[in-house]
Amino acid sequence: MISSPEPISVLPNAIEEVHAFWIAGGSCDGCSIAAVGASSPSVEELINGTLPGIAKVVLHHPVLAVNAGEEFIKPFRLAAKGELGHPFVVLCEGSIMDESLAAKTGGYWSGLGADKDEFGDPQPIPSVSWITRMSQHAAAVIAVGTCATWGGVPAAANNPTNAASVMDLLGEDYRSSLGLPVINIPGCAPQGDNITETIASVLLFLHGLVPLPEFDELGRPKWLFSETVHRGCSLAGFYEEGTFAKEYGDKECLVEIGCWGPVVQCNINKRGAINHCGGCMNVGAPCIGCTMPGFPDSFAPFYKMPPGTQVSSTISKTTGSLVRNLREMTLAYHNKTHKWIEEGHIPSGWGHIEQPSLLDKITHYAYQKLQYRGSHKPGSNNKK
Ligand code: SF4
Ligand code: SF4
Repeated sequence: MISSPEPISVLPNAIEEVHAFWIAGGSCDGCSIAAVGASSPSVEELINGTLPGIAKVVLHHPVLAVNAGEEFIKPFRLAAKGELGHPFVVLCEGSIMDESLAAKTGGYWSGLGADKDEFGDPQPIPSVSWITRMSQHAAAVIAVGTCATWGGVPAAANNPTNAASVMDLLGEDYRSSLGLPVINIPGCAPQGDNITETIASVLLFLHGLVPLPEFDELGRPKWLFSETVHRGCSLAGFYEEGTFAKEYGDKECLVEIGCWGPVVQCNINKRGAINHCGGCMNVGAPCIGCTMPGFPDSFAPFYKMPPGTQVSSTISKTTGSLVRNLREMTLAYHNKTHKWIEEGHIPSGWGHIEQPSLLDKITHYAYQKLQYRGSHKPGSNNKK
């Protein structure tokens, strides 16, 4: 009989519960949608505490919450005073807009909950007030999405709300109770797994199980944002061979119809948009640089060929056409069995397959000489 295993003991001083407060500024809520679509890990795994070594996350999200009113706001008030009794992280979605501008007309841009004013009337508590106060006690402040990380669309040219980033609000000297500056996960909207994986990594660190994950000089998770879109693009082979889409729906590289991927740091193409599916170029969309601090103005007008492309695509076309022809020749031979090559016939009922020309045969012979130089050709009696 197999005896039941001993329960795994909890680490000494292990953190069993971490609270996560989601606060929205000037946003479209797209980052919330992206987060709930995450699968590696999922929000469900985080809030159910099913990931080994990661404390259960108690999520306070204005849209996903099942409670409302003061019952929902109370933990925010406790966290803002440093009296929550549990470690917590602040997740900011949307840009920080200048509330003094809105106050001039007696309004506000974005807020959560209400306090009574001097006349006993409820007045909204601006998101910026929550972020400022809660950040003083938070284990980490994580800006989610390009509006929160850099200002994004609300901070585009003319910027009527004087919108800026969480980093702009808290300043370069800000440090969380874990000693961290603001962590930035850009994207409009960000890839969902980038959000949940970064939270999980910070929680593992908080738990004392791993070193602090690496962040770059702008606070982006380095393992997610150090490479350009182009380096991981499924269409990069077309670029290298100098073949480019002329219109939307074409299968080739999208650079001549406005892709900025070679100069944009983002991993969505490698990771997929949701559950390893989708991602901009994978579904035929040129990169418009939505993860970058310069977005949107630095990448406007969208869907127009970036100026640098004139040089790089001309070079690719020049060298690529030769390389592409040579590869197609080699590919044709690799689509044949040894027997078919020897017999000079392919018994396929699917269609007529051209026999190689004399030039093809000579090129293939030379290619094979190089391929097997210094080694043993399969089926050959010639030993090395
Ligand atoms: S579509 Fe964009 S990212 Fe992909 S290969 Fe072309 S230029 Fe690079
Ligand atoms: S590939 Fe470009 S447009 Fe697409 S998510 Fe990444 S940065 Fe944004």
